[in-house]
Amino acid sequence: MKIMQIAPEERLPNLLQDAERYGYPNLMVNLPRYRCPHCGEYTVFSVPEPNASPIPAGIRAQFDALTDRRSPYEQGVSDFLCRVCAVPVRVVYQINEFQMASYRYFAEAVFETAT
Ligand SMILES: [Zn+2]
Repeated sequence: MKIMQIAPEERLPNLLQDAERYGYPNLMVNLPRYRCPHCGEYTVFSVPEPNASPIPAGIRAQFDALTDRRSPYEQGVSDFLCRVCAVPVRVVYQINEFQMASYRYFAEAVFETAT
């Protein structure tokens, strides 16, 4: 299966409006949304990452090979499936602790299967 790396603003429509509102490019606030290029529908996903990835192991291994993993304190991934057509998606984000135990999450990359 061919995997594509996509710029976050191409798939996460809240990023641009949130950047304007909060003054940080690529900041993900509550309930970020992903727009699926296969079916055109939106899926809400959560950060920080849920415990178990719903992505099949073979595709997850391909995503892992392309994800430049850093410390889990600096970077997270959210794996989810499009809620309509179930294509696997990974959003990679930077974790920034801006106060004690208060975090901001900045989208870095989106991985998905080719259309
Ligand atoms: Zn879809």
